[in-house]
Amino acid sequence: MRPPAAADAPPIETRADLLQSFLSDAAHVPGGFAAGIAFPKSAGEVAALVTSARRVLPIGAQSSLTGGATPRGEVVISTRALTDVTRLPGQMVRVGAGVALAVLQRVLAADALYYPPVPTYDGAFIGGTIATNAAGAATFKYGSARRWVEALSVVLADGSLIEVRRGDVAASLEGWFELEYPSGASVRVPVPTYVMPAVAKLSAGYFASPGMDLIDLFIGSEGTLGIVTAATLRVIPLPRRCVALVTCDSDSQAAAVTVALRREATSSWRGEGALDVSAVEFMDSRALAVVVDEAFARAGVARPARGAGLLLVQIEITCGEDNALRQMDAVLHACGIHADPVVALPGDERGASRLFELREAVPASLNTMIAAAKLRVHPDIEKTAGDLIVPFERLEESLALYRETFEGCGLEYALWGHVSDGNMHPNVVPRSLEDVHRGKAAILDIARRVVAMGGAPLAEHGVGRSALKQQLLRELYGERGIEEMRAVKRALDPDWKLAPGVLFPER
Ligand SMILES: Cc1cc2nc3c(=O)[nH]c(=O)nc-3n(C[C@H](O)[C@H](O)[C@H](O)COP(=O)(O)OP(=O)(O)OC[C@H]3O[C@@H](n4cnc5c(N)ncnc54)[C@H](O)[C@@H]3O)c2cc1C
Repeated sequence: MRPPAAADAPPIETRADLLQSFLSDAAHVPGGFAAGIAFPKSAGEVAALVTSARRVLPIGAQSSLTGGATPRGEVVISTRALTDVTRLPGQMVRVGAGVALAVLQRVLAADALYYPPVPTYDGAFIGGTIATNAAGAATFKYGSARRWVEALSVVLADGSLIEVRRGDVAASLEGWFELEYPSGASVRVPVPTYVMPAVAKLSAGYFASPGMDLIDLFIGSEGTLGIVTAATLRVIPLPRRCVALVTCDSDSQAAAVTVALRREATSSWRGEGALDVSAVEFMDSRALAVVVDEAFARAGVARPARGAGLLLVQIEITCGEDNALRQMDAVLHACGIHADPVVALPGDERGASRLFELREAVPASLNTMIAAAKLRVHPDIEKTAGDLIVPFERLEESLALYRETFEGCGLEYALWGHVSDGNMHPNVVPRSLEDVHRGKAAILDIARRVVAMGGAPLAEHGVGRSALKQQLLRELYGERGIEEMRAVKRALDPDWKLAPGVLFPER
């Protein structure tokens, strides 16, 4: 640990018109307010801000779906000016926290390289994706951000700068980290004792495991333990990709296809077979029902018959697309699907984008419906959705659970998500404020049962400042687990300066 290079704090802007555009994140929770906003250009400037302010909130692209990037009176530290990208030897890259994923991918693509753990929204910044341990559709193959982070530069709550490299610092056998500040003072950070569920992705408070690496404490800590200013990331050769849209008659057919595709994929990674599937996403018939006809027209896809759902499959081409597609046809036939999938071949970026846009039309159409209900029916109507994950073998059971619970409460709903990870986003389609209240109760009920299945109610979006998600975190680890997280926070941020109220309240 070292004091950061001496730098003056950049100006803290307080102009109302400028502040206005930073008062909300993608969760659209009303009532955000901030003491000011600053745009530091270096770790030193971040540190100077942290030292001088009473409470700060680091933000990236504010694409959080949890209210975690909505300020509540802090000085907002925007990372958008931390934009250096440097290629390192050995398929590594050093990236400033404020680099958007799409920008990083463009830079890497020029050298035929790729950063795999990309959430659906590629405008998110590297710092934000590390802070939330973000994961995308291809987690089944590549894991979440955590797996790709080799080193971090982090400004701590006292303004000192820590360089954390994977493999350098492990927790002691007794279960703590001992950190020494530049002042000579040292701090003991206890490792929580809860057991994390064994699922493909998790963004549910602090990582904890016996003998864990210090870097993993910062990844997924949602800005509450330190501000990431730069990261060293591993990258891979840019894969050639093919995208296919498959129509399924039922949940069980969609689950059967996903099981078979995952099996083919794992065989291909062992060198057996050509069907290297990296992601399968599912939109059920109710999700497709909220999508307007124009979205299907733009994608060049006919709306499937009532009751049918769609699977969006990403295939990486290693031994020729003909082989891969032939093998996929065999899988589809074996699962009782005889209609040809809609396919965007490698290089057909426009075709692939059109299919991805159709997928994006699902949440976008639902958001439009919610905004309309907010205007017409009640101003407190809001998005009411889950981000649930189960061990993959319990996928079908989980789909039935979501349906039974919502239908038992008389709620309209839609299901979509990263089905190859067992990660779904059941969404209520609210017609009244009462639906929102009942929907939240239903999600809580579902969460308890998902935890009992060995899953988690917080897969990839994090916890943020959402009261419901903070309650789900308590369901997952209990009050004791939350108290153990508070002990970590108190050790590293005794004045509760960084992102206060994110993950859990102070007491
Ligand atoms: C359309 C859409 C699709 C999405 N799809 C996915 C998906 O597939 N998978 C997924 O995981 N997420 C998804 N998300 C959620 C969101 O994109 C991710 O959570 C993303 O990682 C947030 O990055 P950001 O830069 O916007 O961070 P922000 O929203 O600005 O911040 C998120 C949290 O991280 C903290 N933070 C931000 N930067 C830093 C930093 N440098 N240091 C420390 N803390 C920091 C903030 O304080 C806040 O608590 C989606 C969001 C949208 C709008």
